[in-house]
Amino acid sequence: MQIIDQIYIDGAFVTPHGEEFFDLFNPSTERVIGRVRLADAEDARDAIAAAKRAFPAFSRTDKLERVDMLRRMHAAVAARASELFEAIVEEYGAPVSRGRSMAQHASDVLLEAAKVLEDYSFVRRAGSAEVVMQPLGVAGLITPWNSDAGFVCGKLASAFAAGCTAVVKPSEMSAIQTRVVTEALHEAELPPGVFNIVTGRGETAGAQISSHPDVAKLSFTGSTAVGKTILRTVAETLKRVTLELGGKSPMIVLDDANFDEAVPFALQAGFMNSGQACIAGTRILVPQARLSEFEERIVDAVAGIQAGDPRDPRTSIGPMVSQKQWDRVQRYIRIGIDEGARLIAGGEGRPHGVNAGWFVRPTVFSHVKNDMTIAREEIFGPVLSIIAYRDTEDAIAIANDTPYGLQAYVCSSDVGRASAVASQIEAGRVLVNTLAHEPAAPFGGFKHSGIGREYGTFGLEAFLEPKALLGAV
Ligand code: NAD
Repeated sequence: MQIIDQIYIDGAFVTPHGEEFFDLFNPSTERVIGRVRLADAEDARDAIAAAKRAFPAFSRTDKLERVDMLRRMHAAVAARASELFEAIVEEYGAPVSRGRSMAQHASDVLLEAAKVLEDYSFVRRAGSAEVVMQPLGVAGLITPWNSDAGFVCGKLASAFAAGCTAVVKPSEMSAIQTRVVTEALHEAELPPGVFNIVTGRGETAGAQISSHPDVAKLSFTGSTAVGKTILRTVAETLKRVTLELGGKSPMIVLDDANFDEAVPFALQAGFMNSGQACIAGTRILVPQARLSEFEERIVDAVAGIQAGDPRDPRTSIGPMVSQKQWDRVQRYIRIGIDEGARLIAGGEGRPHGVNAGWFVRPTVFSHVKNDMTIAREEIFGPVLSIIAYRDTEDAIAIANDTPYGLQAYVCSSDVGRASAVASQIEAGRVLVNTLAHEPAAPFGGFKHSGIGREYGTFGLEAFLEPKALLGAV
């Protein structure tokens, strides 16, 4: 049982003013594994004050000092990779291979940011003017539970590369991985006040950060509903804002696709992170003429997927993170059945033989219409919808007929054709026949999937403000 009763402000571990404790569960066993003392609004204000004091000196550091700092951070987080992996599997239920890659990602993003910064020039010309890119100030970074250590490190990496100081408000459900990351960053010896972390509730600590006048930039990853609340709040203080929100990504299987490749591609994209991924390819668009062939193949493939104990290396789908999330997924499966979609794999309840833990059955619906609830709303669990289309034009129209626009996938034997389709999709990223991650590429959403971009130069510039100098020497 872990008791986490400290937050990190001004280079030191301190006890929060907040007196509320929050139980941490192992989602595979439903047992309480720890308790975290939550930071409140006063703690958030203390953290913001520390970040404000640290900003003038930090914003003037030479970029090579910050490159060195990011490299130290990378080394410190990488040194804790196995501890971080354990925390991710324990409190989040990630299957072991996924947990390892999540832990690795948390350190990788720091190294990537160091490389971007090395090559970045903060001064450029625009006609007769010199344009200087200046750090915005104190950055508020608010992250969700579904890959928290990676989001925290990714946002910090870009903020620090820019020369901003930061106050992080991670999800209260990720307190164990947050503790590991915080201890690692403490060991990396950052200047006091540059990095502050307040694990607390969104409505208290989070709302304080998004409303505080001394926070110049708000970078948020989470649901579209909370993203909209934050956008309304930051309007009062005109903060610069990056919002990474929800998704309902299409997987377009073109009529020439080889199903030996398309079926595993669709399942990996759809069930990634046990379905708890904003970029999961949850709407599989299949040509009408090949629908029954695709259905047969996917039913066979799903039968071979192991959902259960995340520590079993054969498992690819772990539990939902919480009872609330389990209930939500069950509710959507019921809605799918009630709205007349055809259940071809999985369904309500736990997988066969599993009696405890927030496990759900990998579920596939076919004959889904794009206006059904399960095709429109983000379920955040391993529930896929197969939607039949007439021709490529119809497939593109269905793919774009969604409020979201985060990521899309195209699968085809003809990469030229697939690329032409990709160019017509309204999404921040389109992956053609691949699940590869490119850290230099911008990441973010069209439409209700968000505002702004993260990673690479785009992510760095999200923490900078251009200043034009005319006539100056
Ligand atoms: P959430 O929106 O409930 O919470 C996200 C964070 O915001 C948490 O830290 C929460 O405490 C905080 N928060 C809640 N209310 C707040 C308020 N009023 N003011 C300030 N902060 C507040 O999301 P979640 O359930 O933790 O995560 C799942 C969601 O995140 C899904 O919708 C998913 O699509 C989205 N997501 C998006 C991306 C992306 O990059 N686009 C990545 C991962 C997850």
